[in-house]
Amino acid sequence: MRRYHVTTFGCQMNAHDSERIKGMLEELGLGEAPALEDADLLVFNTCTIREKAESRLAAHMGLAKALKDADPERRLAVGGCFAEVQREHLFEQFPQVDFAFGPGSIAELGEWLRAERSGARGSFGIGEERRFSAELPARRERSFQAWVQISIGCNSVCSYCIVPTVRGKQMSRSAKEVVSEVERLAKEGVREITLLGQNVNSYGRDLPAAERKTFAELLRACDHVGGVERIRFTSPHPKDFRSDVIATMAECESVCEHAHLPAQSGSSRILKAMRRTYDRDRFLSLAAEMRERIPDLAITTDLIVGFPGESDEDFEQTLSLVEEAGFDGAYTFVYSPRYDTEAASLPGQVPEELKRERIERLIELVQKLAREKNRARIGSTEQVLVEGTSRTDETLLRGRTRRNTTVNFSGTAHAGDLVDVHIEDATSTTLRGAQVKPALA
Ligand code: SAM
Ligand code: SF4
Repeated sequence: MRRYHVTTFGCQMNAHDSERIKGMLEELGLGEAPALEDADLLVFNTCTIREKAESRLAAHMGLAKALKDADPERRLAVGGCFAEVQREHLFEQFPQVDFAFGPGSIAELGEWLRAERSGARGSFGIGEERRFSAELPARRERSFQAWVQISIGCNSVCSYCIVPTVRGKQMSRSAKEVVSEVERLAKEGVREITLLGQNVNSYGRDLPAAERKTFAELLRACDHVGGVERIRFTSPHPKDFRSDVIATMAECESVCEHAHLPAQSGSSRILKAMRRTYDRDRFLSLAAEMRERIPDLAITTDLIVGFPGESDEDFEQTLSLVEEAGFDGAYTFVYSPRYDTEAASLPGQVPEELKRERIERLIELVQKLAREKNRARIGSTEQVLVEGTSRTDETLLRGRTRRNTTVNFSGTAHAGDLVDVHIEDATSTTLRGAQVKPALA
């Protein structure tokens, strides 16, 4: 049997797509290889959100070339956002690549591979009409957790971001399709779903009036599906986070007490230049309203440092936003100029060294707050969905709380079980504890 290996870069959308790439390859009779070296077909599902993602890809391409040199029968494929953006230069930059495909064209992978047996080189589905990959066969990482795509593309115009160029305008899936996927997953034993979109709160606005549903209505419909115990979503945009969604989160039992709410900056001046369409005060009042109405809510965020024109004062405002909003965690990014984005040609690009200094200070503060937040959980009992064994100590189990914090704990449960864990210790990234009850059936 021929074997494949898929390497995934970037966001959850790519993780979702990679599960479909694997599903398609298995339908064609290929088996998964444990490592790159063991595979006949190497697939790289790429990201282009920051330059770092591209340099990581370049390093992997070097290794893939060496593997191809050792066995010229090996095939090398590049899919996803880098393939879409670099369509004209991809084969020049990486001549070892056999074929490339765009992020909306996973469905055509089977057809291409059947024809490609003759050894064709080239690309398909790049710059073409996009399709949802949701309905394709999937090979999911865990049987009890699933991503559910609710929209692709993005209608926002954040001046630093390449996503709208690569993934196009927002296209929502009909609520009927989303809910029937959730029902099917529940029947298959899935206990936790994560609804995926670039701006989940603007879900549905592009659908025909007769079938239009808001994100709050969609959340409620998913909550009604029996068997799914946890519903998460990512990412919402603060500009579209309305009271109906807050009420839905507060009222629907399966919707977890966690919101990943990307702030990007704490300076209203920079937020304006980023075209985020909210300011610092609006963000803080939204976070406060959410905390007031959703008991025990965890709020995490994305922050960018070194956006063009960011002064020391602007950066200090990002630090103070982190304290005022009381984030439970944050993904922190150094601003990376992207092809054809508005921000890439703005004056006042921040020197790399200053960006480095700023991100180090920001990470230090984020970690300090996260540690305090996590330590405040010591003594509490948390419901944990078990995901496997701990990454650092194989005598312990690992899972996540409803607030999305990783817990390493002693116990007898199995992956997919929901258990109660008594929290005894905490770091900035994880809780530690002991299982207190037998697994819930
Ligand atoms: N659509 C989501 C949103 O708006 O929150 C997420 C989009 S992106 C995949 C995830 C994060 O990458 C963004 O929230 C932003 O913080 C960061 N990002 C996007 N473009 C960037 C850039 N050019 N440089 C640095 N970070 C960037
Ligand atoms: Fe990019 Fe902004 Fe759209 Fe998020 S909302 S994908 S940051 S353009």
